[in-house]
Amino acid sequence: AREQLLHAQKMDAVGKLASGIAHDIHNVLGIVLGFARTRQRLDEPHEDMAPVARELADALEGTELAARRGAAVCRKLLNFSRRSVTLTETFDVAQALRELRPLLQQLLPPDIKLEIATPALPLLIHFDRNQFELALLNLVTNARDAMQEHGGVCVVSAADDGDGQIAITIRDTGAGMSAEAVQHAFEPFFTTKPVGLGTGLGLSVVYDLIHRAGGTVAIDSTPGIGTAIRMRLPRTDTLSARIPEPDLASLRVWL
Ligand code: ADP
Repeated sequence: AREQLLHAQKMDAVGKLASGIAHDIHNVLGIVLGFARTRQRLDEPHEDMAPVARELADALEGTELAARRGAAVCRKLLNFSRRSVTLTETFDVAQALRELRPLLQQLLPPDIKLEIATPALPLLIHFDRNQFELALLNLVTNARDAMQEHGGVCVVSAADDGDGQIAITIRDTGAGMSAEAVQHAFEPFFTTKPVGLGTGLGLSVVYDLIHRAGGTVAIDSTPGIGTAIRMRLPRTDTLSARIPEPDLASLRVWL
């Protein structure tokens, strides 16, 4: 009975996911189709082509925007599936955050300032590096979205909490969250963003990744002031031996 229930829950989640994606893609395609109709204007007789050229330019710009949205939805879904493969290693999060600066910077428009605050001493954790990067990308993307109206500052920091835990915090000076949003934020598919922009998967993926590594995530948010998302992960004291590369020849025997 328990297995049946789990199966039903999974089917329910897949159904929600599928309808969410279908909705987003349908929207994007609707926009593209609408703009594609501008082509008909070329077949009509015109004395002055300048306004038509402008309409076409607007249509192309709108199409580009729609395509970007579609691509963003696909990226989020790919990220969602990427989280299931785990390859942990011991690494210094302080250094990892410094190395991620160019990537994070790329996500942010010029009116949002990025600060990376890390100690010089190494902060070792045992985690999957790809998943770490994914969690940060999700959180910094949320920070960006929260600050899209007025810009602001995004501070990414890491510190030794002194109780055997490393804290990694992503703080923004954005719109903040209502108490209700904080309560539901980690649920898959919970989003307050317009269709096509929010999938509601970002924070649920972060929650899943961090909890599977024995950590916790907490939200501290004030509407109109900003939000801090704080992840805590167990500190590791020694650099573990490098994970050996899989021996492909011996692997083939099993395939
Ligand atoms: P999505 O970003 O696709 O909506 P998430 O799971 O990442 O999905 O976030 C869920 C919701 O939590 C967002 O729609 C938003 O309402 C809220 N949220 C998340 N991060 C922030 C933030 N930094 N500032 C304000 N609201 C946030």
